[in-house]
Amino acid sequence: ILEAHGLSKTFGTRGFRVPAVRDATLTLLPGATLGLIGESGSGKSTLARLILGLETPDAGSVTLAGEPWVPAPESTRRARRHQIGAIFQDPLATFDPRLSVDQILADAHSNGQTLRAASWQRAITDSLDAVGLPRTLARRGPRELSGGQRQRLSIARALAQNPDILVCDEPVSALDLTVQARVLDLLDSLQRERGLSLLFISHDLDVVRHVSDTVAVMKDGVIRESGPAERVFGDPRDEYTRALLADTA
Ligand code: ATP
Ligand code: MG
Repeated sequence: ILEAHGLSKTFGTRGFRVPAVRDATLTLLPGATLGLIGESGSGKSTLARLILGLETPDAGSVTLAGEPWVPAPESTRRARRHQIGAIFQDPLATFDPRLSVDQILADAHSNGQTLRAASWQRAITDSLDAVGLPRTLARRGPRELSGGQRQRLSIARALAQNPDILVCDEPVSALDLTVQARVLDLLDSLQRERGLSLLFISHDLDVVRHVSDTVAVMKDGVIRESGPAERVFGDPRDEYTRALLADTA
């Protein structure tokens, strides 16, 4: 169980300050999907980065199973990266360009353990198969993959770390509809098989409605409303949520 308490983050310097996230509190339950929606610039990605520890909060904390996760030293988080994985909209920048696909996956699998060569091969092909990436791509670099293939590689990498929690920031927005559906199906089945918890950020309200157990709605850095997906979509209480849903209906 992941809990974010009172997270806040302001960017910029005196005179030009952007309060990107203000006093955000969230709970992600084991095996559940929490959808995070809100218009562009509302602070969704910043909140995700705060939760991942990629951004230092001005205030607030994140606990994982009751233990402090953020703020925590980078080294601690790295050592525990099997606990929280991440997928971003454009994952290219998250891959080391010097590594090939199989090296990226081997690194993700390694996680402190040593495997025999045969087991490595097996782990890598299993990862490729799980996300439907052809094994023939194993020796390529991330720049030599299509957008959809990169996104699947980033999912394979996240899953190779075998996390309990996966933070997905617009994981399918850059993909065409058929690939979107495949990636969503994949996440769905992995969630059922592994009991993953997902923080799922998307512009696409239909997708969020479809995948989420609970939903949080963000506007100008503030979580305006949260609750069971069915309730929030079916009977929105916040004025802003109503407007957002009416807009896209
Ligand atoms: P989108 O739906 O377009 O991805 P978002 O909800 O993810 O938007 P954020 O990326 O979290 O929004 O941005 C929230 C606000 O913080 C925006 O006003 C943005 O300009 C600002 N912001 C985000 N990152 C930085 C940064 N590194 N430096 C300065 N301002 C930033
Ligand atoms: Mg974003």
